[in-house]
Amino acid sequence: MNKIQNYINGNINSLSKNEINVEDPSTGEVIAKVVLSSIDDFKNAIETSKNSQREWANTTPLKRSRILSNYKSLIEKNIEEIASIVSREHGKTLDDAKGSVTRGLEVVEFACGIPHLLKGEFSQNVGTNIDSWSIRQPLGICAGITPFNFPAMVPMWMYPIAIACGNSFILKPSEKDPSCSIKLAELFSEAGLPDGVFNVINGDKEVVDLILKSNEISAVSFVGSTPVAKYIYEQSAKNGKRVQALGGAKNHLVVMPDANLDQAVDGIIGAGYGSAGERCMAISVAVAVGDIADDLVNKIHLESQKLKVAPWTDPDSDMGPVISKEHKDKIEKYIDIGIDEGAKLVEDGRNYKIQGYENGYFVGPTLFDKVTKEMTIYKEEIFGPVVCVIRAKNYNEALDLVNDHAFGNGTSIYTSDGEISRHFTTNAKIGMVGVNVPIPVPMAFHSFGGWKQSLFGDHAMHGKEGINFYTKLKTVTSRWPGNIKSGPEFVIPTN
Ligand code: NAD
Repeated sequence: MNKIQNYINGNINSLSKNEINVEDPSTGEVIAKVVLSSIDDFKNAIETSKNSQREWANTTPLKRSRILSNYKSLIEKNIEEIASIVSREHGKTLDDAKGSVTRGLEVVEFACGIPHLLKGEFSQNVGTNIDSWSIRQPLGICAGITPFNFPAMVPMWMYPIAIACGNSFILKPSEKDPSCSIKLAELFSEAGLPDGVFNVINGDKEVVDLILKSNEISAVSFVGSTPVAKYIYEQSAKNGKRVQALGGAKNHLVVMPDANLDQAVDGIIGAGYGSAGERCMAISVAVAVGDIADDLVNKIHLESQKLKVAPWTDPDSDMGPVISKEHKDKIEKYIDIGIDEGAKLVEDGRNYKIQGYENGYFVGPTLFDKVTKEMTIYKEEIFGPVVCVIRAKNYNEALDLVNDHAFGNGTSIYTSDGEISRHFTTNAKIGMVGVNVPIPVPMAFHSFGGWKQSLFGDHAMHGKEGINFYTKLKTVTSRWPGNIKSGPEFVIPTN
């Protein structure tokens, strides 16, 4: 049985004997064991991160950039293998896994520009013969705690930028699909990264709590569910750490009566059911505005029936299983609740069976119509292939739904009216907004992050926000020559 250990100081190892199963969600079979690290494993990770960081911070940004550039080539060369590791443990289709690795790779590509990205600001003669400049310096040891749904992409939102900025990094990946992080760490070493700068430590809440309490760790980046995000934010802040904690979502796609309906339906199908709805930018609510609702529901229903639900090994699969038996049960329970609360179940994905994969955790595409804002299936994140259609009389009612919801990750509007689209992008209280695109995920050189219950902290991930998060600002005020004697000053200088 494959045992997934830690990657510390350039070596695969672990001291803990505590292990849990890693399953193939398509079959329900145990395919590996992952170590739940002990305090001694954690101490080793801290020790090596601390020892390596000083020298790494003194390595010139240009040299760091060259290592990142090698890393980018190695990821490109190994993308098939990385994607199949993701698919095997997560269950998503191979093409989707490859797409997600590419989005992570783009962050490495962005981080290759670190000599430029770290350039500071300079002002000559802020006072007579006095110059001032601002620089950004690394924080020290940074940590990342990541979810199961993007085992390559989400960690890659974090560590390439943190490391490019001169920090060392400890990654605690999801215990449900941990193998990919080890592969990514090995490739970074192969690219020339000094041992100890990037460490992967496996485990669950216990090791997360060690991270949150450690005095050696300066910053914590988290992506996962909202209750855990809130906990991470509170504990990190309490212990004096910089923190960004991204949480769950309930993303609305508003379909206006003047929208290209077929385009909107394609958007809802791909973004609602892709990756079995296990994406934080999945569309889980379609808001049908005006009299298009019946047409919209019929078309989504028709298209959802054409989807092929199959394991990732089937090249024609449109969506795979969900991550675990518990998660499948939870999604099916939400479907029960939706029916009980009076929503109209148009397509039922419960008890979905695939021949030869009867023990897999498959849930079929599910569609609810006539959902209302009081219902549990509208208020809570289901994180499965369940699309809820809610009907709104007009644009203002649709915008209120988007803005009144507790989550604020992503939203999108489909319309051919420029004025409405401009009003929506200006007034939606949401971090990432799309117009006629279903999943408005920002590219690596912009920043990713939601509002409200979808992000706790002041910084989004990657792009300039990432650089600012992983560095601290220093401003220097300097006078040369130093032998000018002007006497002490007792008032604040004003020029
Ligand atoms: P999760 O919150 O259960 O786990 C995330 C990480 O936290 C894992 O590494 C896990 O080991 C750790 N963890 C879990 N419970 C903990 C606890 N009680 N104390 C400390 N650490 C704990 O999330 P998940 O199920 O792995 O991922 C799905 C969730 O992530 C969804 O809610 C989804 O919306 C969210 N997500 C958000 C974004 C975003 O950008 N906002 C991106 C991807 C996923």
